[in-house]
Parts: sequence; structure tokens; C-alpha cells
Amino acid sequence: MAKITLKPASRKAPVPKKKAKAVVAKPKAAAKKSLKATRPKPTKPRPTKPWTPAEVHEVFSRFRKANPEPKGELEHVNPFTLLVAVVLSAQATDAGVNKATRALFEIADTPQKMLDLGEERLRDYIKTIGLYRTKAKNVIALSAKMLSEFGGEVPRTRAGIESLPGAGRKTANVVLNMAFGEHTMAVDTHVFRVGNRTGLAPGKTPLEVELGLEKVIPAEFMLHAHHWLILHGRYTCLARKPRCEVCLINDLCRWPEKTV
Ligand code: SF4
Repeated sequence: MAKITLKPASRKAPVPKKKAKAVVAKPKAAAKKSLKATRPKPTKPRPTKPWTPAEVHEVFSRFRKANPEPKGELEHVNPFTLLVAVVLSAQATDAGVNKATRALFEIADTPQKMLDLGEERLRDYIKTIGLYRTKAKNVIALSAKMLSEFGGEVPRTRAGIESLPGAGRKTANVVLNMAFGEHTMAVDTHVFRVGNRTGLAPGKTPLEVELGLEKVIPAEFMLHAHHWLILHGRYTCLARKPRCEVCLINDLCRWPEKTV
């Protein structure tokens, strides 16, 4: 009699633990990497000695003396066009935005006129600005929302402005400050650099720098502080080659790498 051998039922080979982990981990690592890439880097090394209130007062007194009425460089004719200009200025220069908006604001300086212009024609006006397709969509959507929810006016609250398509915290800070005279601090790349380098408000994120500056700057300077710091970063405390030799505050600046 032939011998019958019973074979065990075939089982799927188990997935090695290491391999399974690698498959799950990959997208997480990629997401982390892309987040890191978009986060602004603080200027290093960080200054350590904190500022005294008298020193901070001195710095802003000098800024005020040199430029008593600083102006933003984004051209606009009313709060609505200021809002639109700020939305368009994300990852673009003020000069580039002004070049496009001069003609645009002549025919579309209200939400209704912007809607009448339409997304397609708006795109033509702003096509020299980066990300213009998304920005055109946002400007049309924010105009519609202003008409349907805010009576065609720019909202006067942070929550209201931040609820508009394309408008974030920085946009709200600029509009609240420039259009409505509020003591807000918009942190762009220049303010972020100056806050960190000088040691006035070191921070890893724009929000940290914003809150730090609001804490140390006396109220009497807050209306113009945002513009003084932007202009200082744009024309004196340059990213690659800061002009420390002509800097108004070079004796007080804490940056260990300053050249004077
Ligand atoms: S001294 Fe130099 S690094 Fe310091 S704020 Fe002035 S330009 Fe910037």
C-alpha cells in the first residue's frame, strides 16, 4: 500500500516587520521634509543678552527721528485694494505687485467691480505675479464673500479678515495696521530676520517673533513699528550683506556677526 503523506496547508509568508514599517514611514518622512522646507529659518547664531526697556525705547526713537511717518510700499487706494495687494504679495515683491495693480485698481477698486471684471480678465492683469492663477481665484472669492457677508466692506476684525480666501494672519495684521490704525505686527521675511538678528524678539516662527515684538515694543511706537522694521530689513539689515556700518542701531544690535 502506497504511503500517503499529508502536506501542511500553504500559508502566506509573513511580511517582515522591518519592511512593513518602512512602507508606512516613507510618506511621513516626506511630509516632514516638505514642512521643514517651507518653514522660515531663524538667523543664527541667536543673540543671548536681553534688551532693556530703555534700549528698546532708544532704538525706536532713532527710527522715528529718521523717518517719522514711514509708509508701506504696496500701492493701494482704499482698504479693499490694500487687502487685494497684500493677498497678491505672497511670495512676490512689492514692486512686482505694484506694477500689476496700477492698471487693475483703476478699473477694479471695489469688490463689485472686481466681480464684474471676472477671474479670466483679472488673471490677465496679474499674470506677471507668481501663483497668479490661485491668487486670481482667491481675489474673486474674497470679493464675493465681502459682498455676501460683510456688506462689501473690509472686515475690521482679525477673524473676519482671516475668514476671507487667500488672507492669513500676516494679511490681517497689515490691513488692521495700515487701514484701521491698529497696533498689529505683521512679520514678513525682513521683520523675521531683524527680530532674530538684533535679538529684539528671537523666534523660530513668524508668530513667535510677532508676539515677542508686541511684548517689547512700547505702545507709542506700535503704529509704525512694523514699517520701520520692514524698511530696516529691506534697505539696511540685508539678508546677505547687512550694512552695519551705516546702521542706526549698530551700537545696540546684539548680533555677534555684525561688522562694526
Ligand atoms: S548692526 Fe548690522 S546686523 Fe545689527 S541691525 Fe544693524 S545692519 Fe543688522
